[in-house]
Amino acid sequence: MSALDNLLNDLVIANRILANEDVVDAYGHVSVRHPDKPDHFFLARSLAPEFITGDDLIEFTLDGKPVDKNEKRAPYLERFIHGGIFEARPDVMAVVHAHAEDILPFGLTNGTPMRPVIHSGSFIGSHVPVWDIADKFGDTNLLVANVEQGQDLAKCLGSANIALMRGHGFAAAARSLIEVVRMSVYLPRNARALWRATQLGGEIKYLSQGEIDARNRGYSPYSVETWRAWHYWATKAGVGKLVTRPDKGKAAAKPTKPTKKAKGKRRK
Ligand SMILES: [Zn+2]
Repeated sequence: MSALDNLLNDLVIANRILANEDVVDAYGHVSVRHPDKPDHFFLARSLAPEFITGDDLIEFTLDGKPVDKNEKRAPYLERFIHGGIFEARPDVMAVVHAHAEDILPFGLTNGTPMRPVIHSGSFIGSHVPVWDIADKFGDTNLLVANVEQGQDLAKCLGSANIALMRGHGFAAAARSLIEVVRMSVYLPRNARALWRATQLGGEIKYLSQGEIDARNRGYSPYSVETWRAWHYWATKAGVGKLVTRPDKGKAAAKPTKPTKKAKGKRRK
């Protein structure tokens, strides 16, 4: 399998994981930047992520136009979220947009800001901006339907990993598919823990900047621990057979022994 084929295979897996983990439903999507053409990205045609296969992926330019001029399949309306973020953030290789309900309250009030409160939520970053489409575009249907709106969302995201979208959902950006999926799975969990803590009353104890930094220092996208979650989620979603070890290029249907190098990076 070529590097590009491997990446597109991972994009299919990412779609299935996000659907199975209830991050997306009929709506919501995940994209990956073309590894050799940084001004192109791949996103599925307009289809629920649960049903996506490799045949459903379309290559786009950053302004949301299909590279193939003869492309007839309907694209996602909100593909401009992906193009806007890829354009503004050369470091970002993968983007998720979803409407996960548990995060929505945190975009509606500034009473309790969304910040990491659980260890697995640390990757959302210490600052999660809230983008309100009405600030610049007034009364809309709240969907990101053109290049200008995608660029404005990307501007609000800035250098952060996640932006909440008021009354709508969130956008997540990361260096790899595995990271953006991980972040998108743990964001709603962090939101639930935070929400429940507010019900208990008292002062919320967020992760400190030092704790977030310590988590980031120990993180590697292809460590044994990170890959374990990817393999687990993919298998639960019914696509375990598609999973390969990108660093090894081997199918990983059966457990493999950690290498000496990976053992050295092991952490809980
Ligand atoms: Zn949306």
